[in-house]
Amino acid sequence: MSHSYRHVRFPESGERITVVDGRLHVPDEPIVGFVEGDGIGPDITRACLRVWDAAVAKAYGGKRKIHWCETYLGEKAAGIYDGSYFPDETLEALRELIVSIKGPLTTPVGGGFRSLNVAVRQELDLYACVRPVRHYAGVPSPLKRPDQVDVVIFRENTEDVYAGIEYKSGTPENEKLAKFLREEMGAKFFEGAGLGIKPISEFGSKRLVRKAIQYAVDNGRESVTLVHKGNIQKFTEGAFRNWGYELAREEFANVTITEEQLYGEFKGKQPEGKIVIKDRIADIIFQMMQLRPAEFDVLATPNLNGDYLSDAVAAEVGGVGIAPGANIGDHIAVFEATHGTAPKYANMNKVNPGSLLFSGVMMLEYMGWKEAADIITLTYPEVIKDGIVTYDFARQIDGATEVGTSQFADAIIERINGGVDLEAKRRALQEQLVKERKQREIRRLLQPLEEMIDTGRIPHTVRDLMTHTLITVADSETVHDAMHLMADNEVSSLVVERNAQGQWGILTRRDIVTKIVKANRSPMTTKVGDIASRPVKSVPADTPIREAAEILSELNFSRLTVSQGDDLIGIVTETDIFRAVEKFGWAGEEVA
Ligand code: NAP
Repeated sequence: MSHSYRHVRFPESGERITVVDGRLHVPDEPIVGFVEGDGIGPDITRACLRVWDAAVAKAYGGKRKIHWCETYLGEKAAGIYDGSYFPDETLEALRELIVSIKGPLTTPVGGGFRSLNVAVRQELDLYACVRPVRHYAGVPSPLKRPDQVDVVIFRENTEDVYAGIEYKSGTPENEKLAKFLREEMGAKFFEGAGLGIKPISEFGSKRLVRKAIQYAVDNGRESVTLVHKGNIQKFTEGAFRNWGYELAREEFANVTITEEQLYGEFKGKQPEGKIVIKDRIADIIFQMMQLRPAEFDVLATPNLNGDYLSDAVAAEVGGVGIAPGANIGDHIAVFEATHGTAPKYANMNKVNPGSLLFSGVMMLEYMGWKEAADIITLTYPEVIKDGIVTYDFARQIDGATEVGTSQFADAIIERINGGVDLEAKRRALQEQLVKERKQREIRRLLQPLEEMIDTGRIPHTVRDLMTHTLITVADSETVHDAMHLMADNEVSSLVVERNAQGQWGILTRRDIVTKIVKANRSPMTTKVGDIASRPVKSVPADTPIREAAEILSELNFSRLTVSQGDDLIGIVTETDIFRAVEKFGWAGEEVA
């Protein structure tokens, strides 16, 4: 060991986890750290250690084994290290061990203490707070389809309003800053306002988004959504979004496409092996996680929104009591229960070990031990289905059998060893996933605008609004035939194929009214070429909506064709713009 410790005892057997060529290297018998935690910590840690060990033994038949190394924080640390809740050597051990898991810690009340959890995050620069939220069959939930919730939230952990740059109303610092903002920056705000600064950097945003995309790649996920409030906070939250897209282009170009490309270039069909990068405004994501959770997969968010979102989504599928979490830096990772120490239940063998248990599942996945992780994920619902639950679920499930923490662990271990057909369960889950992806794809192909509206995507360019299915006629067809074509396809315009001069044309219902009825001509004998409007006004697919509106009103047109290179790929109409604005409103200016 590179460091000599006073109280931490590394196990005699087992090897250290290392980082080789920038990747985590996990030996078959790694040493992994744990902190028991305070309050209910010892009860849940004891129970979970047994379940994790049983899952590893079952998955690898003795070929792999974790050697646990206890480290100390909180009250237990204070007892051992002369009153210190946060001993330096624990920090050193967590750094050296690279992978650790911890129970909840008491935050000592009274001056001078920062939260131990926050201290660990800051000292080890664990910049990503990762919270997977999914539903397990049988767990009580207020949603109609809780099974559709399966997201992993990557919340930025170091910046944003959590940076602690705040100035209390009435202090000289506050007054100095207020004066500067008013006099030199032209800012306007009420007298005596408390002031806080929200720093969001390119470095901080990109390293977080990099982790989220890498996770999606490693775990075969479908999409990464950048969550932000960039329509209001353009240069912080909006910048987070822009840097996120930029990072995807710079570092993951061969494995990612944007949602624009998905709907445009790929017409709604997600190419094999590509992850879709999309973004959603923060308030919309809260709605969507209730209405259409299946649309979301990995979410990357700045600090404050991520804080709210992780708890809100966790509450949809069983509450924070079973939601797991981790704080992860470049390699060092500390997995942790997300609830507190619930002191009133300490040492009563009563509470739900779910949160810590699934934090351990995340840890096994992080180590690349997916088989062991899956065993727990697939066995857990079996126990719940049999009605064996701790008090917190028992009060929500009729006819359940309430058991203690350690008996709950026993029930899981019994099923791990008792041969649940894991392979069949895994296959069934995979088939379900493929089926749902296919259904989403069909909806995107058939009704792109409706899908966009229903999934909360805000349109930015004409590509987002246009009708993709172009119905074309030739100049030589009769107007009569063209009218049938419009009626049968329920469209109000047709694209007229290029004429000898190479110009596209358009034939609209209004052309029929003015150039046939009003002009008193016969649709049976008049040819499309005689009345089609030419040349059409075409705009490139990435034209912003506001610019398209400007062109429409200047030319007094009701539709524009949309081009990509030399090809026409769609039509965008006044009605399309109207519907989008009716649905999403108009912010006045788009996110840059
Ligand atoms: P808490 O410990 O999370 O407990 C609040 C309530 O949540 C409990 O009374 C219980 O609800 C339920 N609960 C928590 N864990 C549960 C479990 N494993 N199984 C079933 N139910 C569970 O929050 P708190 O009382 O606000 O905080 C207590 C201490 O924990 C404080 O010192 C705080 O600073 C600390 N804390 C630590 C962490 C951390 O280490 N990560 C996080 C939050 C708070 P019922 O009463 O309804 O049964």
